[in-house]
Amino acid sequence: MRVGEGFDLHALVPDRPLILAGVLIPYEKGLLGHSDADVLIHALIDALLGACAMGDIGQHFPDTDPKWLGADSKMMLEEVCKMVGDKKYKLVNMDSTIIAERPKLSPYIPKMRQTLADLLEVGIDCVNVKAKTSEQLGTVGREECIIATVTVLLTSTNI
Ligand code: MG
Repeated sequence: MRVGEGFDLHALVPDRPLILAGVLIPYEKGLLGHSDADVLIHALIDALLGACAMGDIGQHFPDTDPKWLGADSKMMLEEVCKMVGDKKYKLVNMDSTIIAERPKLSPYIPKMRQTLADLLEVGIDCVNVKAKTSEQLGTVGREECIIATVTVLLTSTNI
């Protein structure tokens, strides 16, 4: 068994789409980044890489590389899932928290879980997404950014 944790933060700005866990969420602001800035998938990628002792997202998908400009983070996750499989590991479960003052995310959580479960090739009962606010405190509370944290558990596929 291997555990991994991931953390990510992106600035919340006007004139950008808000994409969380691969789901487009209608809102007046979105996340700023080199790729589509999907903060939850980025934290998930770091958790998976961490569990395999394979470094971090910046090493594998440098934000100086034009290949990843505006990239769909779901494609980055698919690449990392292949790397995890090549290392002979598979996901047992993942848990995650999104910290965002607005918008209200609970209506989108079922779709986020299903999207992640499909990408990770596990059942939806292996994927949890929690959302909370920052009680109007700090940078999240002022709607300047959104944070995501993810924990994963992997098991070896080597018998
Ligand atoms: Mg990121």
